[in-house]
Amino acid sequence: MFCHDLHSHSTASDGALEPAQLVDRAIAAGVDVLALTDHDTLDGYSAAAQAAAGAALRLVPGVEISVSWNHLTIHVLGLNVDPQCACLREGLDGLLSFRDWRATEIARKLAQSGIPGALEGAARHRQGRILSRTHFAQFLVESGRARSVREVFRRYLVKGKPGYVGGQWCSLETALGWILAAGGLPVIAHPARYGLTRSKLARLIGEFREAGGAGIEVVSGSHSRDETLHMAAVSREHRLLASAGSDYHGPHNPWVELGRLRDLPPGCQPVWEAPGWPAAA
Ligand code: AMP
Ligand code: MN
Ligand code: MN
Ligand code: MN
Repeated sequence: MFCHDLHSHSTASDGALEPAQLVDRAIAAGVDVLALTDHDTLDGYSAAAQAAAGAALRLVPGVEISVSWNHLTIHVLGLNVDPQCACLREGLDGLLSFRDWRATEIARKLAQSGIPGALEGAARHRQGRILSRTHFAQFLVESGRARSVREVFRRYLVKGKPGYVGGQWCSLETALGWILAAGGLPVIAHPARYGLTRSKLARLIGEFREAGGAGIEVVSGSHSRDETLHMAAVSREHRLLASAGSDYHGPHNPWVELGRLRDLPPGCQPVWEAPGWPAAA
C-alpha cells in the first residue's frame, strides 16, 4: 500500500536527524510521501529536497506552527506550503523571535531555582536556528537533573513548574493566514494531545474552519488506538479531511518510526485524495 507520513522533524527544529538523514531513513522505511514539518521553520526543506531528488519518495514541504488558543498551545500543520512564500517566512521569523525571548526567560527562571547556565547548555544541543524546550530538556538530563527527557518535562518544563514560560505564539487566524497565503493545507496536529472537552474541541474546530482550516490529524504517532478512532469520528462529523503522520523526532524514541502508522479508519476522507493535493511523482 502507498505509504504517507505527513508529520516529521529534523535538526532544523527538535528532531535528531539531519534533513537528508531523515529522507534516507524514510526511503528505507518504505515511505512514499513524506512531509517535513519542523516546528516554526522551513530551514530543513532545501537539504531534504536535495536528498529526495531522483529518489522514489515525494517530499512535501510543510511546517508545524505553534499557536496560542484559549490559553493553550495548539500545533497547526501547514502541508504543501510554498517554502519561498514571503508572508509565511516573515511570520515564522516572528515566532523565532518569540522563541529566543522565551529561551532567555526559561534560563532566567531555572537560574532562580538553582540551575545556572541553561541558555548556553540548551544552545549546545540545538543544530538549527530554533531553540526548543527539547533542547532545555537535553541539557537538564545531561546535567543530572532527571533521568529522561520525559521526566524533565514533567518536573521542570510544563505549566506550574520552575522552567515553564507562557506567552503568546500567534493566533489561529494568523497561522492559517500564513499557510493559506503559501498555498498550503492547514491541519490540526495531534488533536487528542490537548485534553480538550468535546465542546472545546468543537469550538476549536469551528474557529479553525472559519479561518479556512481543512483537516485534522487522525492517525498520529502520539495517538492511541482509541484516540485514533475518536478523531476519525470527529473528522467525519465535522467533514474535515483526515491526515496521518508519525511525528517522528529521531531514533532515540523507539516507539515511533517513520511510516509505521495505523491505517485511516473507514469513512475518513484522506488529505491526499483532496482536490488540489499534488499528484504522485
Ligand atoms: P516547544 O515548541 O519548544 O515548546 O517544545 C515542544 C516540543 O517538546 C514538542 O514538540 C515535543 O517534541 C517536546 N515535548 C513536549 N512535551 C514533551 C514531553 N512530555 N516529553 C517529551 N517531549 C515533549
Ligand atoms: Mn517537537
Ligand atoms: Mn506537535
Ligand atoms: Mn510535531
